[in-house]
Amino acid sequence: MSQKRIAVIAGDGIGKEVIPQAVNVMGAVGAAVEMTPFDWGADRYLADKVTVPPDGFAALARDFDAILVGAFGDPRVPSNIHAKEILLGMRCQMDLYANVRPVRLMDASLCPLKGIEPKDVDFVVFRENTEGVYGDLGGVFKKGTPDEVAIQEDVNTRKGVERIISYAFEYCASSKKVDGSSRRRVLMCDKSNAMTHAGGLWQRVFKEVAAAFPQIETQHMYVDALCMQMVRDPRGFDVIVTNNMFGDIITDLAAGLQGGLGMAASANLHPGKTSMFEPVHGSAPPIAGKNIANPFGAILTAAMMLAHLGMTSEAQKIEAAVFEAVRQKKTTADIGGTLGTREAGEWVTEKVANH
Ligand code: ATP
Repeated sequence: MSQKRIAVIAGDGIGKEVIPQAVNVMGAVGAAVEMTPFDWGADRYLADKVTVPPDGFAALARDFDAILVGAFGDPRVPSNIHAKEILLGMRCQMDLYANVRPVRLMDASLCPLKGIEPKDVDFVVFRENTEGVYGDLGGVFKKGTPDEVAIQEDVNTRKGVERIISYAFEYCASSKKVDGSSRRRVLMCDKSNAMTHAGGLWQRVFKEVAAAFPQIETQHMYVDALCMQMVRDPRGFDVIVTNNMFGDIITDLAAGLQGGLGMAASANLHPGKTSMFEPVHGSAPPIAGKNIANPFGAILTAAMMLAHLGMTSEAQKIEAAVFEAVRQKKTTADIGGTLGTREAGEWVTEKVANH
């Protein structure tokens, strides 16, 4: 296989600690990748006020097969302007409409729920990534007065809704669970009882798309009911599709089922285009720079990226090594081990190198 070109943007906070571990693991597993570091983030912004260099997104799309991102956010930039421009810019300007977040429990000890085994938690959330309330449309009127009005628009387009729902069904039809069984059900999560206009569009499109996949079961849950079900009994979930904000919220909740934010991986995809891969966690300023952040979310994200680029055996080796680290408690403290970020990363690096 020809070498794939990866742009690596570690960013801020714990991103700068966990991404180097993911990079080492990809090198040790022998992945055919050429990695190019980018310095986008708070340090660069504070030095020269540049968030994204001119032509930055176009260059990423033109010159790279995939992008590996750490996290953005730094207390020295309270406006978070660089994070918004880099991360939301990448998602929207590169049109990475599908945020894919697998939720998989590697060991029963990592789940806060009683009696839940790894076989019980293996589902994938498809979050719409370019619309909803994240476009910052709206405004404030009579600011600072007792009559202040704040309006935040929720944007849902036919095209945007249809493509994320279709992608979730296509994934369900073509993917297997970790135990080798077929995926068989797509659940749409919304709040169409209260948000009738947007919810109505999602409901209609869901039914239309489902008609083209008669072999796939469909299910619907309001987001509030889904949250309760996720902590009561997550066993029935398979593929979930939802909008930008509900996806944001339920995937943090779902990360709790798999051991917390340090274990969760994600992809921001547009099929056929340069896509971006990032751990679900953010820059976590309170724990940054202390060598305590869990690098496994970033390492599993790198595995997801390799699988997306066709390197499935390398991806499987990395996942197996992380699984083994979890089993042997060669982990950071957030999931019960005693290792630092570097040491946990090095353990996985050695494991894949000697495989
Ligand atoms: P941001 O503003 O960049 O999203 P944040 O601190 O609001 O950052 P997260 O970075 O997602 O949000 O993390 C919230 C908390 O979860 C952290 O303060 C930390 O306690 C925990 N956490 C997140 N990621 C990890 C990790 N990789 N390892 C250990 N703990 C983590």
